[in-house]
Amino acid sequence: MVSKCLLTLFAATTVVAHAQPLRIFACEPEWAALVRVLAPDAEVSSATHVLQDPHHIEARPALIGQLRRADLAVCTGASLEAGWLPMLQQRAANPAVQMGKPGLFFAAEQVKLIGIPEQVDRSNGDVHAEGNPHLHLDPHRLQEVAAALAERLAHLDPTGAPAYRQRYLQWADRWQQRMAGWQSRAASLRGQPVVAQHSSFAYLWAWLGLRQSADLEPKPGLPPSPGHLQQVLSRVRSELPLAVVQTSYQNPQPGEWLARQTGRPLLALPATVMSEGPAATLDGWFTRLIDQLLSASTPS
Ligand SMILES: [Zn+2]
Repeated sequence: MVSKCLLTLFAATTVVAHAQPLRIFACEPEWAALVRVLAPDAEVSSATHVLQDPHHIEARPALIGQLRRADLAVCTGASLEAGWLPMLQQRAANPAVQMGKPGLFFAAEQVKLIGIPEQVDRSNGDVHAEGNPHLHLDPHRLQEVAAALAERLAHLDPTGAPAYRQRYLQWADRWQQRMAGWQSRAASLRGQPVVAQHSSFAYLWAWLGLRQSADLEPKPGLPPSPGHLQQVLSRVRSELPLAVVQTSYQNPQPGEWLARQTGRPLLALPATVMSEGPAATLDGWFTRLIDQLLSASTPS
């Protein structure tokens, strides 16, 4: 009798354990958006939002609590979160999401990065020592990450494995059609120069065939200085850019100054999916990026 009761209790507990949604801590909104595609039943939170520089955020207590409860952390890696994730991991003391554990997924480990420096001098503010970590701006790499993330979810939650793989395949099919559509809409941008601040959009330029002819930052991670801006201005005078591009979290003043001097538009592009509205999904966000770039090439 007792053993039968125990067996019933054990079975009930097992069912409850499987019925619990995965708790997923995303370091950036693009990975939270991808998790929502692959694991719509998961409880997902994002440590950062579109108006924050993911290189630099504060390790708030709320984030420690979220990481402590997480079954999986999905982050960019390549040192993007070097200034805050290790502290969160230490304070959260959750063995599941420590380095080398399957509960810690780094997107940068799934793809080849661009912008790997031959020499690194961190004292000069070089925050891209392992290469450019802003890889989610390339929809092809984003798809590679999605495939790897679906497998990681399947590993952590074997009962859901067929569903994760199926959702990935359905999404990838749609995503490839979307990529072809974006590329054909953006064909007129190919070969055009842009000036940007930081290499946040380097993968987007490479995908669409745009050229970043100058950077408002003297080095990755260092703020624009008046002397450097003057150099940028003299460099771009002979070949005016399509636009001066900043992310929506950067101080607009340097970009506004250069836009005034060159008579070219200043674009504040969202560097990741937005918190609400049509650009709150990966699809909607890429559509918005293309729309904004095309708006700069249309004479007003
Ligand atoms: Zn960066």
